Amino acid sequence: MRVLKFGGTSVGSAERMHALVHLINDGVPKIVVLSAMSGTTNNLVEISNALYAKENEKVKRLIDALESKYNDVIKQLYKTEKALSRGKQLIDSHFDYLRAFTIDVFTVNEERAILAQGELLSTALFHYYLEEIGVDSVLLPALNFMRIDENDEPDMKHIETHIQPELAKDPGCKLFITQGFICRNAFGDIDNLKRGGSDYTATIIGAAIRSDEIQIWTDIDGMHNNDPRIVDKTHPIAELSFDEAAELAYFGAKILHPTCILPAQMRNIPVRLLNTMQPEAKGTLISSKATEDIFKAVAAKDGITAIKIKSARMLLAYGFLRSVFEIFERYKTPIDMIATSEVAVSLTIDNVKNLDEIVKELREFCSVEVDTDLSIVCVVGSFTAQKQGYAVRIFDALKNVPIRMISYGGSENNVSVLIDTKLKKEALVALNNGLF
Ligand code: ADP
Ligand code: ASP
Ligand code: MG
Repeated sequence: MRVLKFGGTSVGSAERMHALVHLINDGVPKIVVLSAMSGTTNNLVEISNALYAKENEKVKRLIDALESKYNDVIKQLYKTEKALSRGKQLIDSHFDYLRAFTIDVFTVNEERAILAQGELLSTALFHYYLEEIGVDSVLLPALNFMRIDENDEPDMKHIETHIQPELAKDPGCKLFITQGFICRNAFGDIDNLKRGGSDYTATIIGAAIRSDEIQIWTDIDGMHNNDPRIVDKTHPIAELSFDEAAELAYFGAKILHPTCILPAQMRNIPVRLLNTMQPEAKGTLISSKATEDIFKAVAAKDGITAIKIKSARMLLAYGFLRSVFEIFERYKTPIDMIATSEVAVSLTIDNVKNLDEIVKELREFCSVEVDTDLSIVCVVGSFTAQKQGYAVRIFDALKNVPIRMISYGGSENNVSVLIDTKLKKEALVALNNGLF
């Protein structure tokens, strides 16, 4: 069974939903994972923020605007009165639900329930459309099997044992439709896989059912060699290894959720990135196969904070780094880059939720400086020891960009530098000109 994921733009209008049918209705058994229609999750975030801020009028205005968008969509999506009236009922029930949240009790749990509405709506509306045109399909409720554990990691055991009975309810079915992004957490509450999480849903399901291929359909013809939103003249990459794709996703290539490669890599399931607007384009194939090109792609991750820890007396003492890392571990804060010297260690994080507490604890045994608004620029490729000269080319391309930190040698696939976010565009363009 295949898993195909369609992102926000791919289900972003009635017209796009109509076009989707041609990509999935070929009789090959598949699970189709859908995102919310593009813009919806952002709108739901805005609604939640207005609720947190106790801005009643704004909440009402935002909900009304989103509802009218959906009412327009169904007018174009369906032809029959029956489908239209079902669609209208669905919208009414979801928007009544949204209007029931009040500023009096609004916590993160309520926010997560609100964020789930986008995928619940898109999948149900699309499923009604398939029914209207007579295409057999079954709506698979993701909340019945997708689960994360207390560390927010996918609970693979739970997912594997719960998705099978869901599929078995409809043994002859060739087309299952399910929600991306949403899940339940260790407490059974509605939660999500973080922004862009529908990609992750697809690879988790792919791994859980041991799919033969996972396809991520989006609005571009595969992984490009640089961020096409920032740099002109980028090109799609035909093949990437799992390691290369994982580095690019983690370090900011928005086309993939940061950690979505891992489940596919664990089970050695190829992942294909394809373009719904141009289905005949080759896209990118991500697999265990390593390819020869030295430089594959460049990506950048913003919102990085650097922490410089200095301790002339203790750095070389064994146990020092452990005491540092132990603090980050206790506050569940992953470290991205790290560089050491004899008297100092610098590291970067992107989750600053517990930064104040971390710094306070670090200051008990060393001096600490914090630097914000930084970006990691990551060059990904196949840098095995025999390939000389690639570092020179990277740093030569970046010769006019002040570099704060370098990570080199951590893996054979990644050279990363830390720069001021204001210089990101300059760095990406310079690398594009210098490496490709
Ligand atoms: P979806 O809604 O389908 O999940 P996303 O917006 O999350 O789509 O991801 C696709 C977008 O990622 C592209 O439109 C492109 O602007 C952006 N992007 C950023 N970096 C890259 C890259 N290296 N290659 C391809 N697309 C990229
Ligand atoms: N709808 C969610 C988001 O916008 C998940 C996704 O699109 O992948 O982040
Ligand atoms: Mg996405």
